Amino acid sequence: MNNKAEFVSENAESQVLTDGFHLVIDALKLNGINTIYGLPGIPITDFTRMAQGEGMRVISFRHEQNAGNAAAIAGFMTGKPGICLTVSAPGFLNGLTALANATTNCFPMILISGSSEREIVDLQQGDYEEMDQLAIAKPLCKAAFRVLHAEDIGVGIARAIRSAVSGRPGGVYLDLPAKLFAQTMDAVAGRNSLIKVVDPAPHQIPGAEAVQRAIDLLKGAKKPLILLGKGAAYAQADDLLRTLVEKSGIPYLPMSMAKGILPDTHEQSASAARSFVLPEADVVLLIGARLNWLLSHGKGKTWGGKSSKDWGGQKFIQIDISPTEMDSNVRIDAPLVGDVGSCVSALLAGMGNNWPQPPAEWLNAVAERKNKNVAKMAETLAKDPSPMNFHSALNVVRDIVKANPDAMLVNEGANALDFTRSIVDMYKPRKRLDVGTWGVMGIGMGFAVAAAVESGQPVIAVEGDSAFGFSGMEVETICRYNLPVCVVILNNNGVYRGTDKNLSGGSDVAPTVFVKDSRYEKLMEAFGGVGAYATTPAELRKAMEEAIKSRKPTLINAIIDETAGTESGRITSLNPAAALKK
Ligand code: ADP
Repeated sequence: MNNKAEFVSENAESQVLTDGFHLVIDALKLNGINTIYGLPGIPITDFTRMAQGEGMRVISFRHEQNAGNAAAIAGFMTGKPGICLTVSAPGFLNGLTALANATTNCFPMILISGSSEREIVDLQQGDYEEMDQLAIAKPLCKAAFRVLHAEDIGVGIARAIRSAVSGRPGGVYLDLPAKLFAQTMDAVAGRNSLIKVVDPAPHQIPGAEAVQRAIDLLKGAKKPLILLGKGAAYAQADDLLRTLVEKSGIPYLPMSMAKGILPDTHEQSASAARSFVLPEADVVLLIGARLNWLLSHGKGKTWGGKSSKDWGGQKFIQIDISPTEMDSNVRIDAPLVGDVGSCVSALLAGMGNNWPQPPAEWLNAVAERKNKNVAKMAETLAKDPSPMNFHSALNVVRDIVKANPDAMLVNEGANALDFTRSIVDMYKPRKRLDVGTWGVMGIGMGFAVAAAVESGQPVIAVEGDSAFGFSGMEVETICRYNLPVCVVILNNNGVYRGTDKNLSGGSDVAPTVFVKDSRYEKLMEAFGGVGAYATTPAELRKAMEEAIKSRKPTLINAIIDETAGTESGRITSLNPAAALKK
């Protein structure tokens, strides 16, 4: 193995050569990509060593899915594609789940996998880890490329970067066969073949007519509402969004990962009146949010419709970078296609200086409902039941996040997700990272690692005990890199809760039940981190405060009432059995 980017060939007369390994590293670095999340093995082990040798940060995981999730969320946080590196076939497949999830969530990510020899794979002659990875990846991501020759590495990386971040961001697969890494070429020609991508995510400016149409609709609204999605958070147009909300005076609702674009304590936040404002609003301005299942497809009772298929009568203005998102569920009356920053700037310019505030009747109705619900929640949070429940435990997390607004919050689970989202206020943009569009389990420790690596801030990961299990082994990774991650497991002994019974009366526990009183904190201790066991809010608070202060990897096993929690959390209606019960 040669650690130098360029070397003198022993065969040719003092010709300076480079190789595939170094061209990939140089191409990434040239584009400002300095971190790789991955897992070494054939054929990319040497590549990981060399990348580290060349000054890149290589974060090595215990399972590729977690590395992939880390890369995906790094992409969301930074706007640059996160890189996940895997071995061939099984490693590639493990990374693919994260790539598909990144694409679904519009996170820019590049999965780079080593692959076996093309000639043998194509003739299906049974190579080591033989698999036609490019063909398998294609339907699951935004774009997929393979590079066969060292002189094409520059183009391959450039195309991957552009595909990941331009337009609607997403996941890209880059297939690098084992043979490519060892190919050599003239070093000067190699350097010249690399591309520094100019303007990888160009602004997309909305048309003047489209802007006017949106403004006219908004101006005539009696009960307007702004809905901020994670596309708005991703766009990093925080000041513009705040100006739009405040200048328009319109109440707004943040989707889960849009919490904190404006502080959740902002007086125009209508989060606490969600079930009131959605059916009542007459004009809804969607900003980087899709009308998918998370918004009941823009229809049905949530929106004031009479049945689940019924449209509520709202008019929609939608800001989105993807033109084909429009009308995907209901009619979009004023589509505003472009990037969030450009669209919001255009709206602000068109609104002028004397924008009429929404009718007081609407604002008062929203405020009244909100105040009532906030008071009700305060009452619930003030209770101190024994054992703890979700509310009393999360009341502590809420205080800790308030005191540490720069901390990152990772969140997954069913009830652990739903309750945290509604109880824990966020104060700054892109701090809340969660299960996203698929509501997927298993993002926890991958997201936590990347959140710490990319932000340098303390990370609090609020995990259901079931959700934690999907990526729990990465506590070793957290300890290995000494990351300031505090994992809080809300432990109720099972999936949803720990009290289900075996319907047959047999000796196996029910499929949703785990070992009672599992000592998850010992997992962290096993690798040199801090473990804590908390049965009261006071113990939880003390352990969290210590974790934030010390920045030591910490796992707090927060024991909550095993009867707490409902089946599937807030998406009970999606269980087929729920239909039978109707
Ligand atoms: P949420 O789940 O928070 O409602 P979604 O993931 O459903 O958010 O929606 C995000 C939307 O934002 C996607 O439709 C995507 O095309 C869009 N988007 C992503 N980045 C930008 C951007 N820079 N400008 C405009 N729209 C964007």
